[in-house]
Amino acid sequence: MPLSILDLFSIAIFTAFGLLFLAIIMVCIWIGNRRYEGVSNWLFASLIILTFAFIIAEELWYLKLDGYSNNAWLNIMFPNILLCFGVCQITHGFHRFLQIKQSLFWLYACQLLIVGPLYAYGLSVETPILFSIIVLTLSVTISLCFNCYYLFSDQGKQYGRTRYICILACVLAMSLNVTRILLLYREPGLMSTIELSTALACINLLMSQCFLTFCYLMFCTQRNAFSLQHMSFIDPLANIYNRRGYQHAIAALAPHKEAAVMILDIDHFKRVNDEYGHATGDLVIKDIAMIIAKECDSTCIYARTGGEEFSIYSPFTSAKAAETTAETVRLTIMKHAVKKQNLSINVTASIGISIGKSVNIFALEEEADKALYQAKREGRNCTVMQLFVA
Ligand code: GH3
Ligand code: MG
Ligand code: MG
Repeated sequence: MPLSILDLFSIAIFTAFGLLFLAIIMVCIWIGNRRYEGVSNWLFASLIILTFAFIIAEELWYLKLDGYSNNAWLNIMFPNILLCFGVCQITHGFHRFLQIKQSLFWLYACQLLIVGPLYAYGLSVETPILFSIIVLTLSVTISLCFNCYYLFSDQGKQYGRTRYICILACVLAMSLNVTRILLLYREPGLMSTIELSTALACINLLMSQCFLTFCYLMFCTQRNAFSLQHMSFIDPLANIYNRRGYQHAIAALAPHKEAAVMILDIDHFKRVNDEYGHATGDLVIKDIAMIIAKECDSTCIYARTGGEEFSIYSPFTSAKAAETTAETVRLTIMKHAVKKQNLSINVTASIGISIGKSVNIFALEEEADKALYQAKREGRNCTVMQLFVA
């Protein structure tokens, strides 16, 4: 009996999916911020799926062309055990990619406890193919349950809404598998198209796994890009913009005709460090950043632009408004006591303001810096305003 179109189709599907999965992994590595966690498991899974395709091809060849040795282990159990193992590898790769630990141990424990005895029992049943498919489906279901379980756990929560799409995919895949078992039980005629049935199960499995992987990959790429940008724009000590973030935020503003730039410098900060230690100095910087964030309105952009130096950019309304903001910040700093254990430290700050055309931000900063030096010369703890005409 020659190989039918259906048999060839079945072989083609497994081979294509093995190769497609390999390709997907390559794309994942390429676009996925070079994240290699879990990739080895996916490569392994791809090889297993390709082996499975080869076994099915060979099996069909012997079955249809050359006489068939009726060895249930060799022809049915072994390929299916291999496929179960492949499923575990895909799931484990997925969990490693998400940096979820210990998943493989529990996954294999479950597969071993539930699927193992069933396979041993399966050798004695009369219809090993149907039985084998049921066990395989069970294995797929266990894997998908694991995905759902992790997506609902605390570790999964960090992935936000994306996990609902993944959970939906899991549920869909599980219900498809259950439907498959029911169909096979009700209609024994389907037994003749068993390769197609297995192939469809695997398409279902692989598609849901690929879908999950892609969802997370897109999400992780986005999240990584966002956190990288956040990291490069935020000062880790003061938790406000650094100079790069400050410049970026100003550039993103709609152009204003005029702006006020204020530069604030803590007075005699070196003494704080010398007297109380560097850690206490850091605490002072933190507190001052907090005061600036609290006292400046939402139209202002502020940053820690130097060691103990802060900048505030405010779209210009009036010289009086700019001075009021600066004075509020300065007076709040003066009244604020930095607490550390039983210590209470008071510091003051000097502020230089310049007002002028906002397109010339560097010139404005230069003028504000001059004003700051003047404030220092005038005895510190004061504000000096420089009206700058570009
Ligand atoms: P002035 O009133 O003239 O500004 O005097 P000053 O002592 O504040 O100025 P100076 O520039 O002499 O000293 C600044 C000090 O700020 C020196 C440096 O050790 C300290 N400093 C810079 N960055 C940090 C930091 O991140 N943490 C701490 N604790 N100290 C810092
Ligand atoms: Mg300074
Ligand atoms: Mg200083």
